[in-house]
Amino acid sequence: MADRFDVVVIGAGSAGFAAAQTASRKGAKVALVDKGPLGGLCILWGCMPSKALLRSAEVAHLATASRLWGIETGKVAIDFRAVMARKDRLIKRFADYRIHQIHELPNTELIMGHARFVAPDRLMVGNREIRGEHVIIATGSVPFVPPIPGLEQTGYILSDDALNLAAPPRSMLVIGGGVIAVELGQFYSRMGVDVTLVEAAPHLLPKEDVDVSEALEAALSREGLRIVTGRKVIRAERRDGQKILVVARDGDETELMGQEIFVAAGRVPNVQSLNLDAAKVAMDGRRIRVNEFMQTSNPRIYAAGDAWGGSFLVHLAIAEGELAARNAVEHAMEAMDYRVVPHAVFTDPNVARVGPTEHDCAIRGVDVLVATTPFAEHGKAELMGGTALEGFVKLIADSRTGEILGAQAVGPEVADLIHELVAVISLRGSIEAFMKIPHIHPTLAEIWTYPAEEIMEILRERSLRARVTLMPGGYGPDESEECIEAPSASRPQ
Ligand SMILES: Cc1cc2nc3c(=O)[nH]c(=O)nc-3n(C[C@H](O)[C@H](O)[C@H](O)COP(=O)(O)OP(=O)(O)OC[C@H]3O[C@@H](n4cnc5c(N)ncnc54)[C@H](O)[C@@H]3O)c2cc1C
Repeated sequence: MADRFDVVVIGAGSAGFAAAQTASRKGAKVALVDKGPLGGLCILWGCMPSKALLRSAEVAHLATASRLWGIETGKVAIDFRAVMARKDRLIKRFADYRIHQIHELPNTELIMGHARFVAPDRLMVGNREIRGEHVIIATGSVPFVPPIPGLEQTGYILSDDALNLAAPPRSMLVIGGGVIAVELGQFYSRMGVDVTLVEAAPHLLPKEDVDVSEALEAALSREGLRIVTGRKVIRAERRDGQKILVVARDGDETELMGQEIFVAAGRVPNVQSLNLDAAKVAMDGRRIRVNEFMQTSNPRIYAAGDAWGGSFLVHLAIAEGELAARNAVEHAMEAMDYRVVPHAVFTDPNVARVGPTEHDCAIRGVDVLVATTPFAEHGKAELMGGTALEGFVKLIADSRTGEILGAQAVGPEVADLIHELVAVISLRGSIEAFMKIPHIHPTLAEIWTYPAEEIMEILRERSLRARVTLMPGGYGPDESEECIEAPSASRPQ
């Protein structure tokens, strides 16, 4: 006889823990299944270990450049083992706490083992059969390894390995120019490794606006990372104890050589072994098909986090897990809101964004006003010096209403600075409203007021122009936009 639960959650990572916590607090009888180790990607092999290492890299960089601030340190030495040991200590603490939280969940049985569907409402975990009125799939993701001829024979490491090396290689070829590639690439570069990033798209971080990618590329290049973009890896080889990647553009081949190859080409949902056919859960390519309620094609089965293949961010995994649990338990059928999804890249300088890019707006035909301000012209950044002077912030506002639609930044602490704009955009704030918010001086956060002021000026000028030109012509308010956009020859001087 199968044991019955109101909700079976497969996977106790960020999405699964959030789902189990939400469902169990609402009184549901929950089974939380995990094959182990407990802790989830974010804590064990993702956000937390990578950011712990990047902090050590930042300190190494500051110490090396300390003369800039009038401080002599003598020769800076990196103790790589100590860097890794600090990270391990932190990760153990975070994982222990998460395991404690899992054991404290009310109405929840933790079942350790690999889950596999045998019917739409039944799963086997080892020899035990369990049944769920609702099931939430939160099995996370695995690294994507592109099918490059010779790669398997040549050998490579993945992000789990890169976070746990016993000693740094002399040189590293990184396949990929996305978030994981640039973060860990910079970490190893600052640990003294000769790093080359290889990205097939024309720029690193291809989903960002080109000016953002270029600013990061410039910063990383200045530090000595080699950046090869617009070239595809077509072959890997091993020669004279070295690993070689052959990259090509328009038939023109180049060889890159390194001691290690790090494949950082993104991640794909980890659902292969779940036997989703038995669950009647349909796929769209590698992704699980979900609707806005996080329901799969089987309405009693939900998916959340990396497992469905959406956006691979912890805050989304948590939000989706909570929402799936609420919908499963309360049947309220709340929809996921993806309007405000901030994200950041924790390189130095950071990269951060909320809302659409300028490029997204152009593609969708949204008429926007855009203004940018470089950190090099910002007082607080000048006081800080060093890498704080790199990058810029960008604001994107609706040209008709002045509503702030998006914000992007490359620069010091922008992964934190973006939150001000997350709040404003969530509350649908306008440039005018933003300009009324006092900012403490001198802070990095003040920098947002400069592009806001620039956009405000344009809006003021437009409304002024609209008043002067439109009224004599007798146009009603509906047509005013067209008039504002009229050629400059018709504008009053
Ligand atoms: C190097 C790196 C750095 C990152 N940095 C950031 C960052 O700074 N910020 C950010 O937002 N995101 C970051 N991410 C992404 C983030 O870690 C993930 O989006 C998030 O952790 C996914 O959570 P999840 O719950 O969907 O999956 P996971 O946390 O992977 O949980 C899946 C769980 O399912 C279990 N499981 C799998 N299959 C089965 C099965 N068949 N039966 C039972 N149990 C199973 C696993 O054991 C695991 O515990 C990073 C990722 C990496 C790799």
